Formats: sequence, C-alpha cells, structure tokens
Amino acid sequence: MAIKRPSKSRGTPVRKTVTSAPIRHVEVRPHHQMVPGEMYTGWLCKNRACGLVIAISPPPAGARPAAPDHDDQLTALKCPHCGDEDLYRWSLRAEHPYAQKSAAG
Ligand SMILES: [Zn+2]
Repeated sequence: MAIKRPSKSRGTPVRKTVTSAPIRHVEVRPHHQMVPGEMYTGWLCKNRACGLVIAISPPPAGARPAAPDHDDQLTALKCPHCGDEDLYRWSLRAEHPYAQKSAAG
C-alpha cells in the first residue's frame, strides 16, 4: 500500500518576497477625533515645537488583535498635528493626556 506523496518537491520552492522591514505601520488617530483632556495611548511627538500626543487609532471592529510582536519594533508615525514623520519605539507607547495647543504663538 503506497502512500501518495505530492511530487512538488522538485525545484526551488516559490517564496514570496516579503520585505521584512523592522518598521511597522500603525494607524494614527486624526487630530479631529481627539478630545483635549482625554487620555490617549501613543507617543509624544518628537517635534519639540509640537510635542502633542500621537494617538494610536483603535483597530476596526472585527479586526483581530495585533499579533504578538517584538516589543521593541520601530514604528513610523506621522504626527497628525504637525505632519512630522518620525520613528517611535513600540515599547515606549504610553498614556498621554491630549492638550490642545492654543493658537497663540
Ligand atoms: Zn507633532
């Protein structure tokens, strides 16, 4: 009784070329969805002239929770307030109160 084997093992297996860049993409909450005084999970903008909270946008309903990941991955984030893009460490995200800037200055 012979067990049938798939004869696929010939040649090199087709591999998808995945660019495994260590940078992940995270949806950022647009500033008009942020309420001054509320706490948001995210980072403080690296732009010293800005310094406002870059909040992580909640995943869409039904989305699977983020897969267990390496905590120290760099995340490319674009500040919704000043538009600056910078890299932030995933492990450094924390709760920050959102303080709206006054127009003065
Ligand atoms: Zn900013």
